[in-house]
Amino acid sequence: MHTDTLEEVLLTRSTKTDAFESPDFLLLDDLLTEEHKLIRQSVRDFVKKEISPIIEDACQKAYFPDYLVKKFGEIGAFGPTIPMKYGGGGMDYISYGLIMQEIERGDSGMRSTVSVQSSLVMYPIYKFGNEQQRMRWLPGLASGDLLGCFGLTEPDHGSNPSGMTTNFKDMGTHYLLNGAKMWISNSPKADLAVVWAKSEEGRIHGLVVERGMDGFTTPETHNKWSLRASCTGELVFDNVKVPKENLLTGKSGLGAPMLCLDSARFGIAWGAIGAAMDCYDSARRYAAERIQFDKPIASFQLTQKKLAEMLTEITKAQFLNLRVGQLMNEGRATTAQISMAKRNAVETAIVIAREARQIHGGMGITGEYPIMRHMANLESVLTYEGTHDIHLLILGAEITGIPAFK
Ligand SMILES: Cc1cc2nc3c(=O)[nH]c(=O)nc-3n(C[C@H](O)[C@H](O)[C@H](O)COP(=O)(O)OP(=O)(O)OC[C@H]3O[C@@H](n4cnc5c(N)ncnc54)[C@H](O)[C@@H]3O)c2cc1C
Repeated sequence: MHTDTLEEVLLTRSTKTDAFESPDFLLLDDLLTEEHKLIRQSVRDFVKKEISPIIEDACQKAYFPDYLVKKFGEIGAFGPTIPMKYGGGGMDYISYGLIMQEIERGDSGMRSTVSVQSSLVMYPIYKFGNEQQRMRWLPGLASGDLLGCFGLTEPDHGSNPSGMTTNFKDMGTHYLLNGAKMWISNSPKADLAVVWAKSEEGRIHGLVVERGMDGFTTPETHNKWSLRASCTGELVFDNVKVPKENLLTGKSGLGAPMLCLDSARFGIAWGAIGAAMDCYDSARRYAAERIQFDKPIASFQLTQKKLAEMLTEITKAQFLNLRVGQLMNEGRATTAQISMAKRNAVETAIVIAREARQIHGGMGITGEYPIMRHMANLESVLTYEGTHDIHLLILGAEITGIPAFK
């Protein structure tokens, strides 16, 4: 990956102190281990030092601060649940959730970069790759020397990835890959892509496609109003010769990418609540400081109602996420449970961002406060990795036994 040097990065560092304090109304910390709290603190410190000062400017300029990729690797944000033998953190899923929560508290785009690398690139290589493939790619991805992306969505197949047309043919010495993917986080800067494509038999397989292969290009998607500090693009395959040793043979079928999405959606559930916490905390502090009618606006009942409802919803979501994390640790979490957590968290965060924006009055639309940025980011989070409605239908199918989306 080409990484801009710090000298090339023309981002203005904010002089405003990031005074974030996380809400813990029901003393959820009592249910965490000392290790969990240490991990959370170290990522929170990192966000305050590295993300908060530059993120407003990065978003305004639609600039992906790629120099942070190496730093994410240094703090162990990539592949926290991957065994240490491969450079991962060997941690549990609650640690992973806490890392996502803290990073998205800083910015959903930054969390997208990290969760794609961890859940959608490292996870499939670890789960479905052989030992040689694991040793070849995982340590570099863990350290941030390599950046990866995950190609499932196509221009004509978003919610229905099973209809994908990207395909590969067995040419004897190699596979020949053709097709295109769209809306791919990290793609313009990625060194490698885990790509889902159909074999001649119509079965979905994962292949690792590397930058530099002839016929492989990654055009950037511009003009986004959401996740502006994350780079998004396409993956275009025009007769790309993919070596046979790049096929992930451990699992095929749509279930393989769906397993990756379970892991990523779990991280999103925690991350979105991080964004909600930031909006709530900013609104709480602003309400105490902003004087109208000779009183802090926090003294008005309507402001108190907003804050009380925000805290209630954050608290409920924290416990839902924690319970799903416990089930993930035990290998018992189901896709429907993860859908509930992701859907609930993103909805909660969007409503909270909107209410927090109101509490900030006109200031809420500026980059002086993080609210509008979170609000715009969360619109992508609502749609990617399964739209809000598709998660509802996953739950509906679980309840009734009747899939309504087919
Ligand atoms: C910023 C960003 C980053 C992304 N990163 C990645 C990435 O890294 N890798 C990747 O593979 N993809 C990525 N995506 C793609 C994302 O997962 C898709 O956008 C998402 O799955 C929805 O697909 P779509 O946009 O084609 O919408 P569509 O599938 O066209 O859906 C449009 C609307 O129709 C609704 N709908 C569709 N089918 C049904 C149904 N059966 N019943 C009821 N309603 C339905 C949807 O809920 C939605 O409201 C990203 C998207 C964005 C915006």
